[in-house]
Amino acid sequence: MRGFLFGACRSGIQIGCGVFGAINFEKQPVFPYIYWGMRAQNHRGHQSHGFLTYDNGKFHIYRNLDLIPKIKTNAIQEWFGRLPGQVGIANVRYTTSGKCDEKSLIKGTQPVTASKNGLKLAISFNGNVVNTFQLKKEICQKFPSFSYECDADLISHKMLIELMRSNDLASAVETCMQEIEGAFSVVGITKDGEFFAFRDPNGVRPLCAGHSENQATYAFSSETVGLDINSFKRDFEVEPGEFVTVSKNGFHREQLANGHRASCAFEFAYFARPDSCFDDRYVYEVREEFGRNLVKENSTIVKNADIVISVPETGDDAAMGVHEASGLRWERASRRHRYVTERAFILLNKERHATIDKKVNILASKIKGKHVIITEDSIVRGDTTKVVIEKLRKMGAKKVYLFVTFPRIIGPCFYGIDMATYGQLIGSKHNAEEIAHVIGADAVCYQSIENLVKATGFTRDQLCLACVTGKYPTPLAQKIADEMKKRFMEGYEEAGRLYEIEEAIQKA
Ligand code: SF4
Repeated sequence: MRGFLFGACRSGIQIGCGVFGAINFEKQPVFPYIYWGMRAQNHRGHQSHGFLTYDNGKFHIYRNLDLIPKIKTNAIQEWFGRLPGQVGIANVRYTTSGKCDEKSLIKGTQPVTASKNGLKLAISFNGNVVNTFQLKKEICQKFPSFSYECDADLISHKMLIELMRSNDLASAVETCMQEIEGAFSVVGITKDGEFFAFRDPNGVRPLCAGHSENQATYAFSSETVGLDINSFKRDFEVEPGEFVTVSKNGFHREQLANGHRASCAFEFAYFARPDSCFDDRYVYEVREEFGRNLVKENSTIVKNADIVISVPETGDDAAMGVHEASGLRWERASRRHRYVTERAFILLNKERHATIDKKVNILASKIKGKHVIITEDSIVRGDTTKVVIEKLRKMGAKKVYLFVTFPRIIGPCFYGIDMATYGQLIGSKHNAEEIAHVIGADAVCYQSIENLVKATGFTRDQLCLACVTGKYPTPLAQKIADEMKKRFMEGYEEAGRLYEIEEAIQKA
């Protein structure tokens, strides 16, 4: 294990994009469950990972950068020794707040802990806090040496402040739900080994619960694939504003806040695994419906096309839908190099172009002279799509029509997806026709917002669609977005990511 960071826990640390937690009531070590639960969700964050278990009043932690490692058989006992106990939480992360140089990434790795006056807790978090400045100010008054590395630090310390006031976990979580603006799906452990989970009142990021067949182990997971890999039965989705604890008798659910549900629509198009399930619908089924919708919306282009291909792998299910609705052959002529695993969207700018070029192999003889529809999940910056289209042109494609399942992204996300400024979004500056010109396609066809909503099975007001409509489900995010848009239109240089944006607004 090269360069790992583990040992007795220290106060403060981290933020994340995929969470898992489990508790066993028959004295089985929890580590294998949290390991596999998190490994199944490594697509939610590549930059760092971490595991934390609780045993005999102590937290034990392991954190490192990059993907979750494979564990060799002869190292299993070593891992069990390092991470003992029957309750544990885990995290994978990519940065949507905080800095992202290597030193900061290490410091920002989750799970985090916070402690004061004999109180202690550990959390793993997925989402993004919007009112960071207000919270930092409050926390620094109570914890003068508080060091912010990521948003999980804010949530864990805010919880601790509220626990010091009330000594009651549910009240502490309730106040957090009232006073923290943003997206937060959290799993955690108290100093007494109590295992809990909660979700922000808008339920922006997913969180579900399940248990083992013999009812000895209970778990929370960002996506259902984390339960499936452990052969756990899915029980329920943690509701927006809900707080859940676990005892031998199962889950205890409490509704602490009645927010307005605004689940992230982008999870359906890009972020979640296709075999994950939201509200009893598999994500891949929704994506197939996206493909069928695109056929309905673009009948003239479909008539003139010879084949459909996909940007592997997030465009695959939509390609299946296009094939079903149009009868066009889904030519599997774009293949992914299996062990080049980086998600282009998550990569840093300088790495992105080189990596996408190496990730996708296009089979020239299947493309040459053809009118090709290519399905893609979304266009954020446009650079990765441009590389794929350049490749198709080089291979002799006569026409390239890009079918995009997620509508045109026109504004930043403040809830845990890394698109924080207007300037980085090609859709904030150009319409579909102009984008086609910039990326070299003959046409760019976005799915309509209306059809996307219908396909998810949710109603429009149950989804966050802020990045495609400009209407944010929380007030400060709306204020920041409006101010940043105004400044962007006036030609001001954008300050950067969310935490910097708010600072810029305060200075304005
Ligand atoms: S702004 Fe877009 S990406 Fe962010 S939570 Fe809302 S729908 Fe998802």
